[in-house]
Formats: sequence, C-alpha cells, structure tokens
Amino acid sequence: MRPGRDAIGGGGSSSAAADLRIDWEYAPAPESREIVSIAPDYGLFINGKFGPAADGGTFPTINPATEEPLAQVAAAGAADVDQAVAAARTAYQQVWGPMPGAERAKYLYRIARILQERSREFAVLESIDNGKPIRETRDVDIPLAAAHFFYYAGWADKLEHAGFGTDPRPIGVAGQVIPWNFPLLMAAWKLAPALAAGNTCVLKPAETTPLTALLLAEVCQQAELPPGVVNVLTGAGDTGAALVAHPGVDKVAFTGSTEVGIAISQAIAGSGKRLTLELGGKAANVVFDDAPIDQAIEGIVNGIFFNQGHVCCAGSRLLVQESVAEAVVDRLRRRLTTLRLGDPLDKNTDIGAINSRQQLDKIRDLSAVGEAEGAQRWSPPCVLPSRGFWFAPTVFTGVSQSHRIAREEIFGPVLSVLTFRTPDEAVTKANNTPYGLSAGIWTEKGSRILWMAQRMRAGVVWANTYNRFDPASPFGGYRESGFGREGGRHGLAAYLDA
Ligand code: NDP
Repeated sequence: MRPGRDAIGGGGSSSAAADLRIDWEYAPAPESREIVSIAPDYGLFINGKFGPAADGGTFPTINPATEEPLAQVAAAGAADVDQAVAAARTAYQQVWGPMPGAERAKYLYRIARILQERSREFAVLESIDNGKPIRETRDVDIPLAAAHFFYYAGWADKLEHAGFGTDPRPIGVAGQVIPWNFPLLMAAWKLAPALAAGNTCVLKPAETTPLTALLLAEVCQQAELPPGVVNVLTGAGDTGAALVAHPGVDKVAFTGSTEVGIAISQAIAGSGKRLTLELGGKAANVVFDDAPIDQAIEGIVNGIFFNQGHVCCAGSRLLVQESVAEAVVDRLRRRLTTLRLGDPLDKNTDIGAINSRQQLDKIRDLSAVGEAEGAQRWSPPCVLPSRGFWFAPTVFTGVSQSHRIAREEIFGPVLSVLTFRTPDEAVTKANNTPYGLSAGIWTEKGSRILWMAQRMRAGVVWANTYNRFDPASPFGGYRESGFGREGGRHGLAAYLDA
C-alpha cells in the first residue's frame, strides 16, 4: 500500500512485509473528468425518450470515493413500469421480433462501435459513480461490454445454427435487474444476448450506480435503435420487484444477492415466466505446493482484490497446501504492501472505493466477526482517505471452515486463508459451501488440474489464472449461486424458445 501509518488494525503484520515496503511515492496520474458531463437530473428511458417518473420521484446518486452528490435520478414507480413494459411489448411485436437477424445485428454492431468510440467517457463515468479504479473500467469493464455486443451481433443471424433447434424464437419482453459491481458490463451481459435473439428489454440498474446504464440508453438513441427495444428504469429494490412481477414480462434475468434471487423466484413462481439467476459465491482459490508461486500470488491478488472484492466469483477463500502456506502468505503480504489504494481516477490506483456505506458496513461487520471468532487479521500499512467509503485489503489467517468469514459472501477486499494437506482434502474444503459459482487451481500438473476440475462443484474453474472473462465463454453457477448461463452460445438459451 502507499507508505503511511497503519490505519486499519494491521495487528499481527509481518515485520518482514513491513521491512520490504516500497518507500517511495508514485506521482499522481489523474485521468481527467473533462470528458464526462454529468447532468443535474436524469430521467427514465422509455420508448426511446428520457422523461421524469410519473409521480416525480427521484433519488440521489453519489461518488462513493468522496460522498459528493452527482445527480438526482428518476425513481420509477408502478406506472412507469407499466409504460416501459408496454413500450417493450409494442416494439417486440411490431419491429424487433419480426426484424431479420442480420438487421438486428447491425444495431448491435453499432452499439458496440459507439461504446468503443466513447470508451473513455464511459470509463471515467463508471469510476466516478461506482468507485472502481479507472485502470479497471478502462481495461476491463468497458472493453468487455463492447466485446459482448460485438460477440452477440455475430449470433443474431445464425440462431438456427446455435444448437437450439432449426427455428428458435425469441421469448418476448425481458425484465432484467442488475447489481452495482459491474454496472455497464452487467447491462451488456443482459442486453446483448436478449437483443440478438429478438427480445426487447426493460433494464433496472442498481440504485447506487445508474449513470452508465443511462449513458448506454443515450448510445441506443445514437445508434437509432427503434424506440421501446431497450428501456431503462432507474430506481430502488421496489422498482426491480415491480418489474419482475409485471404480468407483461415474459422472461426475468437477475444478477445480485442470493437473498433477492430467492425473493424473485418466489414472486414469479407459477407465472410461467422464464428465469435465470446469477447470484453470489464463496469461491476457493486452491494453491498446491508445486504451483508457480509468483504467478499464484498475482492470481490470489487478482482473485480477491480486483474491483475491491465486489465480484461474485471472487476467490475469497484461499486454500493453500500446508507445506507452502507460510511462504505463500509471506509473499502475499509483501505483494499487498505494494498495492495502491486511493483516488479511483488516478491511473496508478489498484484499490478504489467501496461502492456504498451499506456495503462498507457489511464488510466491517463481517471482518469484526472474523476477529471475534479467533482468526488473525492483517492489513498492509495504509492511510485511508478521510472522506468516502474505504476498506484496506485484509487477509485473515488461522481461519477454520466454521468461521462466518469462510462461509458468507463478504463482497469486499477480504481474504480468508485456509490450509489443506491432500488433494482430496482440498476438494472437500472447496466444495464445503452452499455456493457453486467459481474456483481456481494453481499447480504445474495438467493431470491434477483435470482431476480437481472434475470434482469441484463450480460453474467456472480457472487453472493457473483467475477472473478471466470472455464473451464467448459461458458463465454461471449452481446451487445457491443460481442457474442459467450468460456468455457464449449457452447465453442465448435463456432468451430463446427452442
Ligand atoms: P441486491 O441483490 O439487493 O441488488 C441487486 C439488484 O436487485 C439491484 O438492482 C437491486 O436494486 C435489485 N433489487 C433489490 N431488491 C429487489 C427485489 N425484491 N426484487 C427485484 N429486484 C430487487 O444486492 P445488494 O446491492 O443489496 O447487495 C447485497 C449483497 O448482495 C452484497 O453484499 C453481496 O454479498 C451480494 N451481491 C452479489 C452480487 C453478485 O454479482 N452476485 C452483486 C451485488 C451484490 P437496488 O440497487 O436499488 O437495491
């Protein structure tokens, strides 16, 4: 971390790690905010136009790095949900459903191209509204969002070759609810396959991160997407609840907490609506004694500290073989002392702000529980900014499987370290979770990778890498991590009636 005093209980810090701290500062390298113009107010995007909520309701969105208010955003109520779903239905029946796939593809390509052209603007806006570092929005979120539109544009005129029968049909109107951790990217994951398959969409972004979804709505206008094909309803959880329960919605897609995923399943049970859920995770990142340790350290850091740990597939449980545990933890601590926490718009920043006070409170509470239950807490020396929502990268050692920090999704920069002796024990511990979204394996043996991957109950298993995403690759979980796949050919299945 940036040199400074230990601001967050770095008790138990290894003196070796402290000694090896890099004692010099990088010069600031701030990305300019000039490219973004944030309006004081934002409306709902319904039938190709922006307008206020029917009841005039609004809510503020803030910059989590500074707590500075950014804009007032319209809060959609039941009447707005009605209007948006009706617009999506008309567009589905009259324009988008009947349109040949090759024509739909042109719009998706256009959206992808505009996203690329305006990528800096999107990256800066995402960092301001979400708190994540510009390095990540610039290099991961925005390029991947554009890549999703490019990828699914390619499928739009080839649906009969996608393996879902010779004449797959769109489902109709999709109600899509997304979280705050990858606001634009999750919008792209939802919209691109739905549109390619011929559905129309009503999208509900998270309350704390509405701005890039609204900018994407502007891109839809710029691409001259027919009105009503994409509608964006900003609001809180009750807007999402009204959307998914609306009788005019044929298909529901949700990414977020397991708790809300269950509530949605209950709300629409028996309605005949199609449903896909991408929920939480508590992934094991398993390091064997023959792993390339330096690469594994990078994979561990990327696995849990990327995006402040606000990642459903984060490698939040490190399972390390006992014989190398001490060496791995030592090197990990050393590496963490070089991470830079601070201004999300600084191009040197590795760790940005926590997305909301509510999320910060949750991370603090669960970390306190970890200590109370007897695990040893360590954070590198670092000074947290005085305003905004911040949490230093934290590593817990001496964690046992019964600890809450080993069982519950913290969704923050907090790593729990457990050890194992044999591959069987690694598999048993990795699978000892109600979730099943992702896992990582670090070993030099290909045979061991395959042996482990067959036994780990996770939708995605990375080997000697972590958090790799590609639009061509399906992603999703099972058990309490949800069902259905996003990405790849599989991602089309959720939006087609075969
Ligand atoms: P939620 O699951 O509450 O939010 C996800 C989305 O669902 C948001 O757009 C939210 O709106 C909306 N929503 C909330 N309640 C309902 C409802 N009853 N019906 C329909 N939509 C609803 O996640 P939180 O933001 O509250 O985060 C809580 C925890 O969830 C985190 O600490 C983390 O553990 C986990 N999480 C997991 C994610 C994942 O990718 N797997 C993503 C985000 C969170 P609004 O934003 O207004 O609340």
